Amino acid sequence: MILSNPSDAQEVCISWRESGKTIGFVPTMGCLHEGHLSLIKRARESSDKVVVSIFVNPLQFGVNEDFSTYPRPIAIDIEKCQELEVDLVFTPEASSIYGNNFGTRIDSGALGKLYCGKSRPGFFNGVLTVVNILFNIIRPHRAFFGEKDYQQLFLIRQLVRDFWLPIEIIGMPIIREQTGLAMSSRNKYLADKQRELALCLSQAITATNSAVKNGNREAESVLRVAIEKASEHPEFSLDYVHLVKESNLLPFEDTISEPARLLLAGYIGDSPRVRLIDNARIN
Ligand code: AMP
Repeated sequence: MILSNPSDAQEVCISWRESGKTIGFVPTMGCLHEGHLSLIKRARESSDKVVVSIFVNPLQFGVNEDFSTYPRPIAIDIEKCQELEVDLVFTPEASSIYGNNFGTRIDSGALGKLYCGKSRPGFFNGVLTVVNILFNIIRPHRAFFGEKDYQQLFLIRQLVRDFWLPIEIIGMPIIREQTGLAMSSRNKYLADKQRELALCLSQAITATNSAVKNGNREAESVLRVAIEKASEHPEFSLDYVHLVKESNLLPFEDTISEPARLLLAGYIGDSPRVRLIDNARIN
């Protein structure tokens, strides 16, 4: 079933819930790749009804970002969902999510202003606002998110905890190309040469992991390894690299004393200027 009207989608989901079905939900912006499909497959395995939303959320894009050019191969996406036996593909229009009288926004707090939130002001407020709206329309029992967007996953867990949303959040591992490049809808923008250069992100992860495996536990020096690798190519413009605690997403001060995540982001190309992110546990 494909529905664009939020009220219709909500009605269907409420009727499923009332008849005792569990609902698994995968919110996406479309241009589905194996990363998205891994979330959908997991939802299919663990829920009676699977809902996938496809919505390029204008609220999370900055003025100079790629909202208007973001890839929208909707017919292909719907086909992929149907192949995976998705029960409902929800494809709302922006005007039905943000009507004329729309006024409320969720503030993602201090952590929403760091890392990706620093480079993309308002980004996480936009993400949390739309996720909260979608949660209220679909009312899922569980929702599935990729670790690819690690800070986003962390903030969604924070939203669910802070607002007592009765939804289980399931984080899923990053799906990569064979080369190591993390799959992303934005990889569509990349020329072959750029795809190759973009590998500096996953290579920075590998180099950092080796440094730690070889006994380096000094956060600053480990971070230097990551920065060096990730800034290898002048065509790749590094936005940030941080080594943070998985428990609170804040940087280590000195020794790596608990589970750590390396978070990276950068840009490649001029027109379009493509933003890429990556992350991994470092141990
Ligand atoms: P997006 O369409 O980019 O908003 O992503 C929708 C969901 O798919 C988010 O929870 C992402 O974290 C997840 N996702 C995107 N890329 C990947 C990937 N390579 N591996 C796993 N999950 C991913």
